[in-house]
Amino acid sequence: MPAVAGPEIERLIQLLARLPGLGPRSARRAALHLIKKRDALMTPLAAALKTAIDAVQVCKTCGNIDTQNPCTVCTDPRRDSAMICVVADVADLWALERANATQGRYHVLGGTLSPLDGIGPQDLAIDALVARAHDPAVTEIILALNATVDGQTTAHYITDLLHEANVKVTRLAHGVPVGGELDYLDEGTLAAAIRQRTAL
Ligand SMILES: [Zn+2]
Repeated sequence: MPAVAGPEIERLIQLLARLPGLGPRSARRAALHLIKKRDALMTPLAAALKTAIDAVQVCKTCGNIDTQNPCTVCTDPRRDSAMICVVADVADLWALERANATQGRYHVLGGTLSPLDGIGPQDLAIDALVARAHDPAVTEIILALNATVDGQTTAHYITDLLHEANVKVTRLAHGVPVGGELDYLDEGTLAAAIRQRTAL
């Protein structure tokens, strides 16, 4: 597509187009919106980006992204230090926090094992997890990984490694989503829900 604006604007569009969920068309729309809302949006956004670049850190304990290290979750004394919830990505940690799903702490692996993509154990924060699991204060490791082949492969791999540690290893249930109708579920989900049925 030929450039319709000066190089400064084209550069803005190209950078916006690299954001997840934004293609070239929506990047153009976003750029135009920013330019139109120059004072109300573009200037504060630029300032927020600049501040974030300087302030953001990766927690050396759990791998969460925050503006303090150790992060807010790791330093919160109300958190249950006996429970560590293992996630593939910071996005998953934030999703669990939004759901207020666990009062424990976290461990971010930085991805899942994927032989096809050449991602092995050495590429993930697995050694650090095993070390944390050997802390006598830790009694449960929850594997909150995706219900995909890679996610489940990673869960099995970690479960084997944690045999030596004196911890209970649990994983998320598979089954009927809240508000879900049985008729609309795929066979795999429905079969897993039957297998993992619970007594009332
Ligand atoms: Zn942390």
